[in-house]
Amino acid sequence: MIIMNRKTELVKVPSNFLIKNVIIDDDIYKEGFIEIDRCLVDEIKKLWWIGIHTTGCCCGHNENVGFIQVERTDLQKMLDFGYEWYHDYSNDLGGNNRYDAFIPKSKCHCEKG
Ligand SMILES: [Zn+2]
Repeated sequence: MIIMNRKTELVKVPSNFLIKNVIIDDDIYKEGFIEIDRCLVDEIKKLWWIGIHTTGCCCGHNENVGFIQVERTDLQKMLDFGYEWYHDYSNDLGGNNRYDAFIPKSKCHCEKG
């Protein structure tokens, strides 16, 4: 098993946001905190500030294209803000037919490997 040195930060989600894709019962999420790749923390906070409901993200760790997934209702807003669709899902995850994620504008500062 490869253990990557991923630098993440625990960030409190706005209390009016629907928390999806997280295990609420797990201690780490009990107070509404989620773990976010450090490279994306500022960008995700800005998106929350302007009302975008994110559902997941990954900076790509300098190995893959990063992504920011958002609620369906916020897709158009992301396009309006100039975000480009993320289209690197593998086929078993929906491939090119999946339209729920965008490429982050933040630069990834993770070390390669
Ligand atoms: Zn990164």
